[in-house]
Amino acid sequence: MPVICQYCRRDMQRTKSCDEFIIGSNDGKDFHPIPFGKETRFDDYNPVFSDTCPDCGVRFGGFHHPGCDWEECPICHEQIISCYCHEEGE
Ligand SMILES: [Zn+2]
Ligand SMILES: [Zn+2]
Ligand SMILES: [Zn+2]
Repeated sequence: MPVICQYCRRDMQRTKSCDEFIIGSNDGKDFHPIPFGKETRFDDYNPVFSDTCPDCGVRFGGFHHPGCDWEECPICHEQIISCYCHEEGE
């Protein structure tokens, strides 16, 4: 059973990257999503991973599928699914 991303409509187990969805902050600014491997919240250690995101499966350097628990918020640099500084997607 393929798992299809609701946003890019790709098979999440096969695709290298989601589309780049601009993240709107609550004060109206646009931020670019942080690709897998560019997270800054991990700068105190270097996790050794395979080259795919452990949660959503994109390749190193690809954009996470929305809802991935690895994706970092470009505004506060916390986990994007647990912060409130961006608008909820329509
Ligand atoms: Zn996607
Ligand atoms: Zn991911
Ligand atoms: Zn945030």
